[in-house]
Amino acid sequence: MSLETWKELEEEILACRKCERLVAWREQVAATKRKAFREQLYWGKPVLGFGDYQAEMLIVGLAPGAHGANRTGRMFTGDSSGDFLYRALYKAGFSNQPNASHRDDGLQLRNVYISAVCRCVPPLNKPTPSEVRNCIPYLHREIALLHNLRVVVALGRIAFEQVVTYFGLSPKPAFQHGGCYRGGLPAITILASYHPSRQNTQTGRLTEQMFDQIWAQAKSFLVRSIH
Ligand code: SF4
Repeated sequence: MSLETWKELEEEILACRKCERLVAWREQVAATKRKAFREQLYWGKPVLGFGDYQAEMLIVGLAPGAHGANRTGRMFTGDSSGDFLYRALYKAGFSNQPNASHRDDGLQLRNVYISAVCRCVPPLNKPTPSEVRNCIPYLHREIALLHNLRVVVALGRIAFEQVVTYFGLSPKPAFQHGGCYRGGLPAITILASYHPSRQNTQTGRLTEQMFDQIWAQAKSFLVRSIH
């Protein structure tokens, strides 16, 4: 497939208004803003996947953060979850810089593509099952375009369940941090990690060391050098 096909998919996602509740919420958050960002123009639209179209590794999160990706317009950019994720990816060699503050900050990913189950911010970070059903075909289409895919890292239970369903793992494994599975044809590796949400990182449920181990493990399944 050509880049043109990525372009078509991205244009379709950007124009999507399938989920009435999420369209209203993403626009409301963008209009009301957080005080610290009141001078900024919020993105307030569906957020596209981000990274290397030739990637061997895909990271799947849940949905844009209200004042992170829904503000900046790039996955995991501009909030504490993103700070935690991008620092870890940089340490592991997957990016050219450890920080992600806005869309034009120069961040480049190497051999990794980042996407999510839902492209629009949900109230309380909780998409409904029907909203997930509406949005998940976009992730499936991205997976089909990632021709070099070898590893998928699912951040959190919802992403993990969607990924193991897509790759047809049977019986379905229960989510556990560090879980590692094989599925699909041709087979790819699926790794489960706690989501780097503030709730998980500030309580110590997910430490930097635990997260570093996920990326070290993921790297062991890749062929292309990232250094
Ligand atoms: S969450 Fe996905 S399906 Fe729903 S409106 Fe946003 S882009 Fe469309």
